[in-house]
Amino acid sequence: MTNLIPEKKGSSVMPNIDPIIHIDKQLCTGCRRCASVCPVDAITGEAGTPQSIDAHRCVICGQCIQACTAYAAESEPSLASRAEKLRQRGQVSSVREPLFAAYSTGHGLELKEALADPKRHKVVQCAPVIRVSLAEEFGLPFGTLTPGKMAAALRRLNFDRVYDTNFGADVTIMEEGSELIGRVMSGERLPMFTSCCPAWVKHAETTAPQLLEHLSSCKSPMQMIGALVKTYSAEVDGVDPADILSVAVMPCTCKKFEAGREEMNVDGHQEVDLVITTRELAQLIKDKGIDFINLPDEPFDSPLGKYSGAGTIFGATGGVMEAAIRTGYELMTHESIPNLQLDFIRGDEGIRTAAVQIGDLELKVAMVAGLKYVSSILEQVAEGTCPYHFIEVMACPEGCVSGGGQPKLLLETQRKSAYQARKSSIYRHDANQKVRKSHENPAIIKLYKDFLGEPLGHASHHLLHTKFISRSAKEELS
Ligand code: SF4
Ligand code: SF4
Repeated sequence: MTNLIPEKKGSSVMPNIDPIIHIDKQLCTGCRRCASVCPVDAITGEAGTPQSIDAHRCVICGQCIQACTAYAAESEPSLASRAEKLRQRGQVSSVREPLFAAYSTGHGLELKEALADPKRHKVVQCAPVIRVSLAEEFGLPFGTLTPGKMAAALRRLNFDRVYDTNFGADVTIMEEGSELIGRVMSGERLPMFTSCCPAWVKHAETTAPQLLEHLSSCKSPMQMIGALVKTYSAEVDGVDPADILSVAVMPCTCKKFEAGREEMNVDGHQEVDLVITTRELAQLIKDKGIDFINLPDEPFDSPLGKYSGAGTIFGATGGVMEAAIRTGYELMTHESIPNLQLDFIRGDEGIRTAAVQIGDLELKVAMVAGLKYVSSILEQVAEGTCPYHFIEVMACPEGCVSGGGQPKLLLETQRKSAYQARKSSIYRHDANQKVRKSHENPAIIKLYKDFLGEPLGHASHHLLHTKFISRSAKEELS
């Protein structure tokens, strides 16, 4: 078993959290399918022998987990028992799916126990793409949209509040859009990179620490919701933040790492206590015997559950950019954006660029989908020749729809159609929202009026912004 995150050794280079990505040496055949999808060449080993992961390079994206097809045959006598492996992997004992060689640490078992604790106030948030992929685990077609059933299932799992990371995406746009406008006006620290993908952030911290000032200082939508759960929502509910269990359901294995970062706490309270993936949520729903397909549709809770279409599209590559432009355009020009659906920003894996006229400014933007494509842009930024103002980077091939914690696709041929269906579903969900711009979301307006004040204000800086740290090999060794 490979320990991904080494023990903390007195410096702040690595967060002191448990390992997340593992290769089970009993099961690994050495086929190196995982190595072929790893965007940072972190998988090492001879073909035909069990592989290892270079923890320093690894960005915890989980693409190796998605690619691995070697799994335990239950009858193999030399293997540790299935029940023991499930326990080691943090999975509930009722899990029926095969145990693959490459896997991520699960938190289903821990969450099941925590949900049974009557003393905790249990709050959950769900990332934009969970609602377009969860149903696949129950046999429904790729991309089936089920936000209402998901909310209903989470209540039956015993959560007291069901919130939405989409709301956090709307807050992110308010903060990140304002930050971008400030930087464009001053001409400082351009280009600005998005900072919501933790795998991209870890990669930047590892390979380009000299460029970290180019990252937006915004926490990710998940961490923003986490911070608001333990402050704003705790206040609304009259609950002591110390009694809150803050849980996030994410398509991404690296979100487990992000939640454990030391700086992701507010007034001494960890913002997100536990992260589970889409697959782990499905396992918990099955474990509890919930008939997901026949659940009634239920709404998300207030105040952190009301979202705009802009918050929804964060789950697809180009989504953060499109959402930011919808708001940035109107904040800068004080006019309505002529077209809400920015098709030229939408697309697939690779780099896409565009120039958007916003008043007198020609805003040059780039979208990077897939971490392996980012090196040329980083070189341009280091040389001072990068022509863009704003760059979105998503580590996974098509953004969060293809995250490492999403339902596993065993056939390579399924991949394209699954990603396409999940993306179409996200865009359909956006198109069907009454409010499609973050700054017009009434719950966002209320949050700023009642609690935060203004974007980039004192409270926002305290709760919603962060600093990134160098993880270069040089510093790690010192
Ligand atoms: S988690 Fe991502 S970066 Fe780490 S070994 Fe797997 S594919 Fe490579
Ligand atoms: S894909 Fe799975 S079995 Fe193949 S080398 Fe990677 S971990 Fe081992």
